[in-house]
Amino acid sequence: MDFLPVSLRLSGTSVLLVGGGQVATRKARLLLKAGARLTVVAPEIGSELQQLLADSDGVWHQASYSSAALEHAVLVVAATPHSSVNQQVYRDATQRRLQVNVVDSPDLCTFIFPAIVERGPLTVAISSGGNSPVLVRLLRRRIEAMVPAAYGNLARFAGRLRDAVKAAIPGETARRLFWEGSVEGTVGELVLAGREEQAEALLRTQLQDTGNLYRGEVYLLGAGPGDPDLMTFKALRLLQSADVVLYDRLVATEIVDMARRDAERIYVGKARSDHAVPQHEINQLLVMLARQGKRVVRLKGGDPFIFGRGGEEIDLLAENGIPFQVIPGITAASAAACYSGIPLTHRDYARSVRFVAGHLKDGTVSHNWEDFQSESETLVFYMGLVGLPVICEQLQRHGRSQDTPVALVERATTAGQRVITGTLGTMVDIVQREQPRAPTLIIVGDVVRLHQKLAWFGAGDKRQA
Ligand code: SAH
Repeated sequence: MDFLPVSLRLSGTSVLLVGGGQVATRKARLLLKAGARLTVVAPEIGSELQQLLADSDGVWHQASYSSAALEHAVLVVAATPHSSVNQQVYRDATQRRLQVNVVDSPDLCTFIFPAIVERGPLTVAISSGGNSPVLVRLLRRRIEAMVPAAYGNLARFAGRLRDAVKAAIPGETARRLFWEGSVEGTVGELVLAGREEQAEALLRTQLQDTGNLYRGEVYLLGAGPGDPDLMTFKALRLLQSADVVLYDRLVATEIVDMARRDAERIYVGKARSDHAVPQHEINQLLVMLARQGKRVVRLKGGDPFIFGRGGEEIDLLAENGIPFQVIPGITAASAAACYSGIPLTHRDYARSVRFVAGHLKDGTVSHNWEDFQSESETLVFYMGLVGLPVICEQLQRHGRSQDTPVALVERATTAGQRVITGTLGTMVDIVQREQPRAPTLIIVGDVVRLHQKLAWFGAGDKRQA
């Protein structure tokens, strides 16, 4: 490590900035944001910098640099286009044991500016010690995407209540555990959702009721259709806070692997007619684990509330007074549609779309088929592979033409995605021949015609149809 990252309190501190161009202006903006008292030495300065100084009671010495400028400075930044001047500043400053930064010259720096991700008082500093600014920018982009904007509020909230918590929980370890539970738990979630008053009320109740401090909770997370990049930031964050993760066949291994390394993983996988763990047992397991004080994540493929039985799982939680949250995910229909170039609605082909269960609870495929007649409605069948012959036959019998296009999207959004197209009249034979593997989604309607044209741009589509 060539440079130790520290955070400086600059408020009211005299900082000398040598140079008045664009680079100097950028540094001035940053220094002023931290409350520095700025003096700029330069023969000329840009209009933005002039304005910044005017707004902050800063000073501009319209002159070339001379060492006298260093007199009151605590920190020095040189950003002139002249390397001889920059070097002179560095020499003079170090002689006086002042901290100095020459922009873009790590060798002429006793301190450097890290890249910053800023969320209110919360800052993340990234530096490569001057080795690779490109890598630093890349990392910064990633961290920017990872840290929710509202974390700044959370930091401020914690700062505001720090003394109250300290007074109520004098023990250091107990206090740390309390804060961990709060920041990662319901209190933190309430602050992130902008409900600070409620969060504070809850935190104050928890402070009085230490017996209740470490109560468990359950998050029903929509993990999306397969491609891990299609998870939401919120789902990822909650997944990484879990003590226990329950998952099934529909959830990709890469997603389960994003849980904390020491989190317990429980497979409750269900094949269509082979329920590894019956639903009511999953429901009870969720209650039991939460009662043990654990933070439980139930990962659901796609969206928890679309053919996901999410409703049943939270029913028992609600009955037992266990706190829970449901986080939406991208459902297989939208994912399969986007990744195979089949818009579910389209002004010329479909004005509505209907999500249909391909088989019902008892294994049959019975619907009010006459409801599905409209040629301008796209139908998407979930869990429809086994019932495909019945679906094709009933739709034709109830008014849909045998030429109605059909697409079967196999393992949508994964590396193994395949799109098989045909019509209501031909699809059963085609599927017989192609033997697709679960999970598969069936899309019926004129929008399927767009697949050939649009799929070329759809990621993951191997165009084997
Ligand atoms: N809650 C899920 C659906 C669960 S029902 C969601 O919102 O997507 C299970 C059915 O979803 C499967 O039988 C299949 O029809 C569909 N499905 C889920 N993931 C899929 C994928 N990656 N590709 C194709 N179909 C998928």
